[in-house]
Amino acid sequence: MNIPISFEFFPPKTPEGTDKLRLTRQALYAHQPEFCSVTFGAGGSTQEGTFSTVKAIQEEGVAAACHFSCVGATRATVREQLAALQAMGIQRLVALRGDLPSGYGMGGEFVYASDLVAFIRQETGDAFHIEVAAYPEIHPQAKSAEADLQAFAAKVKAGANSAITQYFFNADAYFRFVDDVQRLGVDVPVVPGIMPITNSTQLMRFSDACGTEIPRWIRLRLQGFGDDTASIKRFGLDVMTDLCEQLCAAGVPGIHFYTMNQAAATTEIIRRLKRV
Ligand code: FAD
Repeated sequence: MNIPISFEFFPPKTPEGTDKLRLTRQALYAHQPEFCSVTFGAGGSTQEGTFSTVKAIQEEGVAAACHFSCVGATRATVREQLAALQAMGIQRLVALRGDLPSGYGMGGEFVYASDLVAFIRQETGDAFHIEVAAYPEIHPQAKSAEADLQAFAAKVKAGANSAITQYFFNADAYFRFVDDVQRLGVDVPVVPGIMPITNSTQLMRFSDACGTEIPRWIRLRLQGFGDDTASIKRFGLDVMTDLCEQLCAAGVPGIHFYTMNQAAATTEIIRRLKRV
């Protein structure tokens, strides 16, 4: 596998989580990621943990990408956060709208991620490489599939350099998405996001929330394993390695792993891919 890879982490909430994530990063750095990204709680709820984690990655000599969500934010807060990231030497952002927890109004001065991308470009020029989110299986709040494609195109037009997809299990949805955005004249790398399968309850919960379809045969197999985590992990590795092989054979521009702050499954998928 000779394509760029990247790893995504979330900011830990405890000192033990921070130590564990440091070990996870050290294990994954062996695979020479192009960058490692850190998620950002919508509404700025994890700002401190996100910023300290990107800083730690940067100090470890690896390029860090800071996720940045704008829901509930104002121009003034975003300007301040961008300045703090520039002072840390961060050069890559994943610019998102984000989802506020239920009960919060949308508020803020930005409506869509495209507004944030345009603002970052206006404020900081080419200081940042900007990634945006892409949804091969269509964002759950999109008015229609076509409207979602147009929304993606708008983010690129506003200044995004590349995209990372929501995780998916249907490779055809990804291939179709890439064809469709090219038809719209959008020509930026769209890197597939890969979620290793290690826990079926969590996977089903996440997938329901973010609109990822778990194919029936995968769902039934996972349900059939019950609490047998060893079988879930074994099956998950086979399924995700097959998907990555299919994507690599089709010439994807990279692979972004949603590591869930764990090294083992991601490492094993990469090891298997190197064998082919
Ligand atoms: P947008 O691109 O703004 O799209 C949101 C919705 O609005 C879509 O349905 C779209 O079709 C619609 N839309 C956009 N523009 C228009 C328009 N002009 N007119 C009408 N409709 C429009 N969330 C976090 O909180 N923190 C994270 O760190 C985080 N990281 C992520 C990383 C990746 C790679 C991905 C794929 C998702 C991530 N998310 C994260 C989740 C993301 O914030 C949610 O999916 C959120 O609901 C949408 O964010 P977005 O940036 O894609 O929004």
